[in-house]
Amino acid sequence: MRILVTNDDGIMAPGLLALRRAMADLGDVTVVAPTTPQSAVGHSITLTDPIRVHRVSLGDGAVGYGVEGRPADCIKLAVLELLPARPDLVASGVNLGVNAGINVLYSGTVAAAVEGAFFGIPSLAVSIEDADAVDFDAAARLARGLVGRLLEHARGQPILFNINIPDLTKGPPRGVRVVPQSLKGWREGWERRRDPRGRTYYWMIGDLEPEERGIDSDVAALADRYVTVTPLQFDLTDHPRMDEMRGWDLAL
Ligand code: MN
Repeated sequence: MRILVTNDDGIMAPGLLALRRAMADLGDVTVVAPTTPQSAVGHSITLTDPIRVHRVSLGDGAVGYGVEGRPADCIKLAVLELLPARPDLVASGVNLGVNAGINVLYSGTVAAAVEGAFFGIPSLAVSIEDADAVDFDAAARLARGLVGRLLEHARGQPILFNINIPDLTKGPPRGVRVVPQSLKGWREGWERRRDPRGRTYYWMIGDLEPEERGIDSDVAALADRYVTVTPLQFDLTDHPRMDEMRGWDLAL
């Protein structure tokens, strides 16, 4: 099995190394990741600039490809140019900070997995809740265990999974739950500051809104300390609305 590992926190991020190590017993792992942090770039790609690729020595002595671009660029380049053959699995992460709720749409980690799914390759994103001490190795091992089972059940279907892991410093997770993406958004906030020349600038603050009581979602399950798995799709069409709109008179 050929595995492509990437992330959005950049090629020097500890979560990337942990995921590479954990996936190594599944097959041949190649790391292709952005040279700089790319969190929250979503599914952007590089169109108007050239992209340089560097052979990079990773923190654990392995060698990977550093890409001066976005997470989605990494997948495109890896699949079409850098890898000797098409990968059988794309694994993106382990991201620092959960990609639950509306964050799924902002996430570069998830976008890389979605890009893998564009190619019809089974793909997954893995993220862990931010905490004072984050055990990326434990998170990556959890993900590795799940991946084996998910691939077994999927039997070659082009699957796309978003996996989130709760803060492990509070104890082992209570289990694994398959849950929908929360529709709760970002609790918006801006800090207004002044630069040394007296000009105003803004810094985004805020966090994910907690889930409402009784709603089953990734945000709720993570708060209950479950590992969450959400099957994703990139079909953004609102199909029920489509059906309703067939009855609308829109003639010009
Ligand atoms: Mn990130």
